[in-house]
Amino acid sequence: MKFGAHVNRAGGLMSALDAARALGCDTIQMFSRSPRSLRAGSVNEEEARLFREGLAAAGIGPLVIHAPYLLNLASPRKETYEASRDALAHDIMLAKAVGAEMLVFHPGSHLGSGEEAGIARIAAAIVDACEIACHRPPAANEAGDGPRLLLEMVSGAGTEIGKTFEEQRDIMDRARGVPLGICLDTCHVFAAGYEVRTMEGISRVLDEVEATVGADSLALVHANDSVGDLGSHLDRHANIGEGRIGEAGFRAILGCSRLAHLPFILETPHRTLDDDARNLAALRRISAEAVTW
Ligand SMILES: [Zn+2]
Ligand SMILES: [Zn+2]
Repeated sequence: MKFGAHVNRAGGLMSALDAARALGCDTIQMFSRSPRSLRAGSVNEEEARLFREGLAAAGIGPLVIHAPYLLNLASPRKETYEASRDALAHDIMLAKAVGAEMLVFHPGSHLGSGEEAGIARIAAAIVDACEIACHRPPAANEAGDGPRLLLEMVSGAGTEIGKTFEEQRDIMDRARGVPLGICLDTCHVFAAGYEVRTMEGISRVLDEVEATVGADSLALVHANDSVGDLGSHLDRHANIGEGRIGEAGFRAILGCSRLAHLPFILETPHRTLDDDARNLAALRRISAEAVTW
């Protein structure tokens, strides 16, 4: 199985690569820019090329880009909506430039305007963002065809959309033609009310995935333990084994053969690289101990 972590790119792409190598990541995720800002970050073309070559040489992949949390494609406010759509378009281009296979984002919050209207706005924004990104002439050094866009499962705090597979399916149905997929965040789905601590629970969840978005849509797992309990709608990540999902829960998750082909990326609390190293070691240890089912 492929295990990795969310790495900091504030010090530049090459320092993110150094961190990934030091941690021994099989796969990595990083923010497209400051997570609390919609202001576009820029990438130096030469640096992007060195970064791509460094990842390839170290055998690290897939590379995942996470869009800023501030993005709200479901916003009824025109200015926020348009800024979010443009930010997504920019991130698609950035993902292409650094050779990322996936771009993950939270669908958005409807802010009281209703789920139906929110879902329609998200789908329209995704289609428009792809259009905007496609019409920009490709840079000479760009790699690949562009990222698969992943809708992240969210905990359902406030008016968040994307807390159920049905909502994600409705977005995907309306945004046909865009290469979409789903990111399953273990903390978020658990907080949203999906039981993922037991084999029975996980089987039921994956059956639901098959009946809604389809098994092929699952592209990525965010491996996070949860501070909040089942159905709490609390989006607070805990260290692996130290939250409400716990070691036994992760043993069931990591033993599941229906998930084994997916990259698992940590977004656990971190102040230093040691925190990531500890969580990565925990994931690998629990995975090695888990009985495959
Ligand atoms: Zn996220
Ligand atoms: Zn996540």
